[in-house]
Amino acid sequence: MNYRHGYHAGNFADLLKHTALCELLRLLTAKDKKLFVLDTHAGAGGYDLAGSQARRTGEAEAGIGRLMSESRTGMPAAVARYLAAVQAYDRKFGPPGGVLHRYPGSPRLVRAALRPGDRFLACERHPEEALLLKREFAGDRAVEVRQADGYRAIKATLPPVERRALVLIDPPFEATDEFEVLTWAVRHGLRRLATGCFAIWYPIKDEAAVASFMASLAEENYLRLELDLGPRTPDGKLAACGLVVINPPWKFEEAMREALPWIAARLGDGASSSVFASPSEVPAQA
Ligand code: SAM
Repeated sequence: MNYRHGYHAGNFADLLKHTALCELLRLLTAKDKKLFVLDTHAGAGGYDLAGSQARRTGEAEAGIGRLMSESRTGMPAAVARYLAAVQAYDRKFGPPGGVLHRYPGSPRLVRAALRPGDRFLACERHPEEALLLKREFAGDRAVEVRQADGYRAIKATLPPVERRALVLIDPPFEATDEFEVLTWAVRHGLRRLATGCFAIWYPIKDEAAVASFMASLAEENYLRLELDLGPRTPDGKLAACGLVVINPPWKFEEAMREALPWIAARLGDGASSSVFASPSEVPAQA
């Protein structure tokens, strides 16, 4: 368990995951029915972009840093809403000044979208990250933080009393069998709540493993989103990733088809995005 999201917060993978997450939350909370949100791999909750971890990799600068400097004119609505959420968090919890200092992790983005009566459980297994997460939400009764295995929480919490759920599964992929465990967890989750919305992040390094994971979802109604920075570098750094959303809400696909090409165009020459909706559909490169 070496992974620390502080090195990667605000990178291109977060741009994809968090833009989609904000849009999912917006669409799912538009309905006048209560929602249960489970963040299985929650991380620390918020990140210091001026800290040593973020500065060491420079990934935030190459990710969120590029989007923050863009004019909002002509920006896709989903991206503008995501950036507004990032800015609101920084204004509330970061030091004063014009530069982005604090970046919200998935639990903070969820928290910002919750309505009274919605429930939110954030799980984090790493003891130090879990402690940071607990501190981030100390005194906030709308958020339940557990130092726990997020995969097991799927089995333990679904189906929720609300009968409506958004489950974000965002593993670090340190373990060689992560895709297998993920497949098992998603299968159990869908068995317990077939109508639940599951958003699952994955790296694109081992294409065969990705293909086999996607094949396990062949029967599901899903939308698959991918962001690719272009040619791989010899250092083996992550250069492409995806988010598959099972049971996406209405209008989500439209928003992502507009947002992702716009984001990709700001990530450098050779960056691209794709959105495809069913096992038989040919990937629509953008
Ligand atoms: N979802 C966060 C966000 O978007 O801000 C980032 C999460 S980070 C990619 C993955 C996190 O999962 C790490 O903090 C890691 O310690 C944690 N983790 C690893 N295995 C876990 C498990 N089985 N259950 C819960 N958390 C786990």
